[in-house]
Amino acid sequence: MINIKSESDIREMQAAGALSKMALRRCGAAVKPGVTTAEIDGIAESLIRMHGATPTFKGYGGFPGSVCASVNEQIVHGIPSPDVVLEEGDIISIDTGATLNGWVGDNAWTFYVGEPSREWKTLCEVTRDCLKAGIAQAIPGNHLGDIGAAVQELAEKHGFGVVRDYVGHGVGRVMHEDPNVPNYGKRGRGVKLQAGMVIAIEPMITLGNQANKVLSNGWTVVTRDGSPAAHYENTVAITDDGPLILTSDDRGPWCEMQGGTL
Ligand code: MG
Repeated sequence: MINIKSESDIREMQAAGALSKMALRRCGAAVKPGVTTAEIDGIAESLIRMHGATPTFKGYGGFPGSVCASVNEQIVHGIPSPDVVLEEGDIISIDTGATLNGWVGDNAWTFYVGEPSREWKTLCEVTRDCLKAGIAQAIPGNHLGDIGAAVQELAEKHGFGVVRDYVGHGVGRVMHEDPNVPNYGKRGRGVKLQAGMVIAIEPMITLGNQANKVLSNGWTVVTRDGSPAAHYENTVAITDDGPLILTSDDRGPWCEMQGGTL
């Protein structure tokens, strides 16, 4: 069942979204060679709790971290650890979720550690553009397939892989609501979008083949071929005025962070 949010629900979700974005921004600012993903996790957790919110991911299905920190060939659900030390040339997807006043904000960004290769940076730039293209389709009257197709077409035009086993999702009082929001699809197919739906759009794009597996820790999803993956995410409300990015802070609806604008 898809929960339709009222305008006041959406305003409350904007607060959760803004905090989630703030946590993501603080984490990104800490990314550099020598930093551990456990340190990044601590930054997010203390910031979120300082604002009277809770880190949505902590304890979700038993997940141990406050953020997901997925390095290089890790696609999503990397577990923060003092043993994972960022190295020059890595890329790291950081995914932060904050639950504030009973509402969830969920967003992710792939950061550069120092200066990754041109090829890896292109993967990140294209994935960011995929998210932007997907968001542009999030308007009443369109279908979920329009979002998926926009993401898929752009990624495949560049010869990249589109992860199919993990998808975006509805967001509300819990992190994962209906509907699923795939990063592939056919235009005009799938659930029809209407004002008041809130969805997380999150392309997961691979430099090589999209085939993946879960590590023995039961969480972390990696590419089978070892190629790097990029991941960007926003929580977006569908409104009669167009897509409204809820995971946005006071720097405006489009987010600027290291590596570019979204
Ligand atoms: Mg998500």
